[in-house]
Amino acid sequence: MTPNSDKKSPKIGAAQIRLLERLTQACAVSGDEGEVRAIVLEHIRPVADDVRVDALGNVLATRRGQVEPRLQVLLTAHMDEVGFILTHDEDNGFFRFERVGGIDVRYLPGKSVWVGKDHLPGVIGAKPIHLASSEELRQTISQDTLRIDVGPSNGSKVKPGDRATFATSFTRLGASLRAKALDDRLGVATLIELVKHAPANIDLLAAFTVQEEVGLRGAGVAAYALNPDLAIILDSTPANDLPAWDGSENTKYNSRLGAGPAIYMADRGTISDPRLVRHLVETAEAANIPYQIRQPGGGGTDAGAVHKQRAGIPSVSISVPARYNHTPAAIARLSDWKNTLALLHAALKQLTAEIL
Ligand SMILES: [Zn+2]
Repeated sequence: MTPNSDKKSPKIGAAQIRLLERLTQACAVSGDEGEVRAIVLEHIRPVADDVRVDALGNVLATRRGQVEPRLQVLLTAHMDEVGFILTHDEDNGFFRFERVGGIDVRYLPGKSVWVGKDHLPGVIGAKPIHLASSEELRQTISQDTLRIDVGPSNGSKVKPGDRATFATSFTRLGASLRAKALDDRLGVATLIELVKHAPANIDLLAAFTVQEEVGLRGAGVAAYALNPDLAIILDSTPANDLPAWDGSENTKYNSRLGAGPAIYMADRGTISDPRLVRHLVETAEAANIPYQIRQPGGGGTDAGAVHKQRAGIPSVSISVPARYNHTPAAIARLSDWKNTLALLHAALKQLTAEIL
C-alpha cells in the first residue's frame, strides 16, 4: 500500500499550499501570535470537539476518537516566529528595536521588514558602503547602530512594543517552497491537517503553542493542561546540507532536504522516547515513506518542556527540514512536507496502548 492510497488520508494539494502561504505571511513574533492563532481557529473550530485558548494564548483542541480504550496523544506545533520588537521611538519614523528569539545580527542590515499589525513596510537601515570606512567594513555591525525605518508619515502608526518581521512573500520554487517562518508554520499547517483527519483509534489533543522561540514557554503549560499519555512535537529543523566550502565531505548537515521527515533521537533539551522513535521508523519502513534521523546534538523543540510535565510525558520530535531557518527566507522541499504528514498520519493510526 502506498502512503496516500487510503482515501481518508490527508493530502497536501493546492488548498494546503495556499494555507501555508497565508500562515507564513502572517506575523506572529513570540508573545504576539494573534494573526496565526486566528487562522488556526478558523480551520479547526469546524472539526474539533473542543477548542479553547488558554491564558498564555496557546490553542488547545481535542478531537475525540471512537474506540475504547484510547490513548491521549498530544501533538504540538509552535505558532510563534523569531522577529523584532520596537523599543524606542526616535521620531521621523526611526525606531530602536530588539531581536526576539535567535536571529544572527549579521542578517539584519538592509533587510525589508513588516511592522505592526498593519504590516507597514520598513527597512533595517545601515550605513551604505560608500560612507563606511575600511575599518567598519572589516567589523561585524552591532545591533546598536541599526534602526527600523518606516518613514515619517507612518511613524505615528506604530509604537514601542509593536512587533516586526522580515518582509518575505511566499514563493514556489519548483519542487521547493521559499518563505519566512517555515519554522514552524510547516508544523502548524501539518497539525491543522491532522486535526481535520484525526484517526478514530486515539483522542488527538492538539496544542498550537506560543513563545517557543524564547524558551518553550507555551508548550509546558499546554502539556500540563492536556495531560496526555504521550506527545509528538512537529517542528522544522535546520538543514545544513550545503556543500562544504573547502570541498571536503559535509558530515555536519543536521538534516537534508529531500530525505524525508527528520526524526529526533536527541537534541539539547530532550532525549526522545525510544519506543516512539521505533514506532515512527517502523511505520515509515512498512509504508515505504522516506525518513531521516536528525543528527543528534544541538537545537531543541517544545519537547524540551513537554516531556518534563507532571510525572513525565514520553515525547518525540519530528521536523520538516528547512534551509536558512531564522533568516529572511528559508527553503523547504514540498516532498518532505508531504512525507511528514503521511508518516504522522500512518503512525497515529497504528498507535495502541501497548506502545507504552
Ligand atoms: Zn521551531
